[in-house]
Amino acid sequence: MMHMTLADILSARHRIRGVADNTPFIPSPFMSAVAGHDFLMKMESMQPVGAFKLRGAMSAVMALPDDVRGVTCCSTGNHGRGVAFAANRRGIKAVICMSELVPQAKVDGIRELGVDVRIIGTTQDQAMHESQRLCAAEGLVEISPFDDPQVIGGQGTIGLEMLEARPDLDMILVPLSGGGLAAGVATAAKAINPDVQVIGITMERGAAMYESIRAGKPVEVSEYSSLADSLGGGIGLQNRLSFPICRDLLDDTVLVTEDEIRHAMQVMFYEDRIVAEGASVVGQAAMLAGKLPQPKGPVGTIVTGRNLDMPTFAKIVTGQDLRIGDLKIKGTPYGA
Ligand SMILES: *Cc1c(COP(=O)(O)O)cnc(C)c1O
Repeated sequence: MMHMTLADILSARHRIRGVADNTPFIPSPFMSAVAGHDFLMKMESMQPVGAFKLRGAMSAVMALPDDVRGVTCCSTGNHGRGVAFAANRRGIKAVICMSELVPQAKVDGIRELGVDVRIIGTTQDQAMHESQRLCAAEGLVEISPFDDPQVIGGQGTIGLEMLEARPDLDMILVPLSGGGLAAGVATAAKAINPDVQVIGITMERGAAMYESIRAGKPVEVSEYSSLADSLGGGIGLQNRLSFPICRDLLDDTVLVTEDEIRHAMQVMFYEDRIVAEGASVVGQAAMLAGKLPQPKGPVGTIVTGRNLDMPTFAKIVTGQDLRIGDLKIKGTPYGA
């Protein structure tokens, strides 16, 4: 069954042009040696809001009718920042709902954009209910972080750009949470080359899409603190689009541990000199941990964001122990 097509992604490309497109796609010499083939990184962390979510948000906000009163969303941080940026560009109101699990650096980044920010409850689900209440009460349009055709179309432009730059890609590694990114990238990539493997990667703690694909239907999982905080949250029991697309198009889904994420963040910093969120390095983490099939050609991954708490990041790169919520992570200096 065709859920979305290349045409949806091409129309999204039109709506985001000049604002959220054409990020660099650069090789990592270190990771290429590990992979045995070129290993390329799509640098979505260089977007104006520091994460790829601007693509989906711009695509959705620019598709709204002229009489729209404003937009709202729930977010683990990066989607909210993208929606706030896009709403500002269109000159409409935005209300961003987040839970207490969202790191302060992400909350501050959104407040700086001058939009209405609400911190509600301790889970992404509670933030989602507030955002849904606002739609009914104030006539705002809700923009889902992943289960929306315009959002998926916007994220899919990443796959389009990757395959245009490197038609020889054998494997694409996609950080996976609600699956908007993976659904869009897989739709674009498989339309251009049905043989390219698209693998979704997520953290062990709270892997909603991974569990849902195995259960054959959307399931709820507990939410935990993680180095990959941007991958937190469920996929929604009423999921309409991102679940069936990920189920049908992803070749596999793979889990990585907190320690593997910590190590991959160090690798990115010391080998590539790149500051990246835990969520953005799960592709590298899976490759470094030997959890992926042997590539037969170039590998591409998406460095999805850079919006992390710098004190936490400083501890990671210097190998100190750290604590995020209930999570304790043992530090190791790089190369030790
Ligand atoms: C949202 C996000 C993801 C996951 O995207 P989904 O569409 O929810 O699967 C990965 N990395 C970062 C940095 C994000 O903000």
